[in-house]
Amino acid sequence: MADALFTLPGMLIDGAWRATGTEGAAEVRSSYDDGLVAVVPKAGGEEAREAVGAARAALERDNFPRAERVRVLEQAAAAIHDRQEGFARAIMAESAKPIKTARAEAARAVETFAFAAAEARTFAGDVVPMEATPSGAGKTAFTLRTPIGVVAAISPFNFPLNLVAHKLAPAIAAGCPVVLKPASATPVSALLLAELLTDLGVPSGWLNVVTGSGGTVGEALATDPDVAYVTFTGSADVGWGLAAKAPKTKVRLELGSNSPLIVEADGDWRTAAAKTAVAGFSHAGQSCISTQRVYVHEDVADGFVDDLVAKVGALRVGDPADEETDVSALITADDADRVKSWVDEAVADGGKVLCGGERTGAAMVTPTVLEGVRADAQVQCQEVFGPVVTVTRYADFDDALRMASDSRYGLQAGVFTTDLGKALRAGRRLHFGAVLVNDVPTSRADQQPYGGVKDSGNTREGPAYAIEEMTEIKLVSLQS
Ligand code: NAP
Repeated sequence: MADALFTLPGMLIDGAWRATGTEGAAEVRSSYDDGLVAVVPKAGGEEAREAVGAARAALERDNFPRAERVRVLEQAAAAIHDRQEGFARAIMAESAKPIKTARAEAARAVETFAFAAAEARTFAGDVVPMEATPSGAGKTAFTLRTPIGVVAAISPFNFPLNLVAHKLAPAIAAGCPVVLKPASATPVSALLLAELLTDLGVPSGWLNVVTGSGGTVGEALATDPDVAYVTFTGSADVGWGLAAKAPKTKVRLELGSNSPLIVEADGDWRTAAAKTAVAGFSHAGQSCISTQRVYVHEDVADGFVDDLVAKVGALRVGDPADEETDVSALITADDADRVKSWVDEAVADGGKVLCGGERTGAAMVTPTVLEGVRADAQVQCQEVFGPVVTVTRYADFDDALRMASDSRYGLQAGVFTTDLGKALRAGRRLHFGAVLVNDVPTSRADQQPYGGVKDSGNTREGPAYAIEEMTEIKLVSLQS
């Protein structure tokens, strides 16, 4: 067997690295060329429970003071910055994300840790004006923000470093010991990050990483009675299923979407077309906020479609390691087959392929633009999670708002318009976690509140918001 690209210490439980799990070991392979990326332990439910026990004991030891947590987070931001290229190569190898996009993800992880460090320095409770009511007479009260308890973090394959950072950094800042289960397809960046954090002095038990399948390790973590908080990022069915299985636990979900973009006739449709050619196809459309459904006013639709198709047709498809590659493989051949079958289904129902639509390589679909697709086609009403954008023409802005909102999902929506009234109407009427004016969905700054409504989730991430979720407000009242 060829040597793996990365040699990893194994999984981390209670400060010790383990090379194998109760279910043996698993190979991590590239979906682009099947190259062996790493071999990681395959844990079962037993190790999940052990890791939660270690986290629980760490919480009781209370041996990771806030100043130390600030130091670790600040030094982690600097250390990730110094090793950015190595992290980018790991992201690229395990997820087939093109190297230039992988570099952007690694740079974002630096920001995520830096914002968590800033928040860790400053978050605090409030003084409560008790004497403002007769029942508060003679009382002086304030609130403390205390750690909620053990955090179980379950992460997806598509941002294997930065979405892990969005869970570990706030947990450290909040003072919560954490057990992470990374996606089976992409555990490498997470393990490298855990190694970096332990090298910086995170004490035993405060950070545990258990590799193994979602159905066993993930479920065992989420349903463990000693877990106070589950932070899950992944698909809607799995996420809502976990929430139902752990009704007494705070289960916070960051899930998928089929993000819409509205392009009004008065808007800068050329910029909208150029941005859609990136936003719909970055990491082969495997982003939860990938632009998927475009509604374009009929007066500018011809120009918009011509521009979009020209730009999408010019995207470079191929090896993720190639500096010029824009779009590479999907995470599995099955996913590529599914996306292709959804495109075929839309076409069989009257949709037209304007470009792409081919299934190539081990796990690739060529960047695809479709027009005239029915509202109930899967490429329109489900999350495609592949390199596919649909275009629908409209005549009336309110119809476009209605069609954009008509989805089980609600993560982000975009609107291009220069009319302030329409921009405000969109901001109020579109039922999403974020409405972006003169920008496409697929926009995330790591400090912003990020998350969705409806089937897209029930929380907001971003270090400050996640830390708020991971802390509890405790009132301390003194009677004089
Ligand atoms: P997924 O299949 O739901 O997996 C996500 C994580 O859950 C993985 O670690 C997976 O483990 C684990 N898992 C699977 N079944 C489980 C179960 N029964 N119990 C507990 N854990 C389980 O999602 P994915 O394919 O990795 O990621 C793509 C999805 O994530 C898309 O829907 C995307 O939109 C969404 N996403 C959302 C956001 C956001 O912030 N809103 C960001 C990125 C991605 P295994 O890998 O071992 O199966």
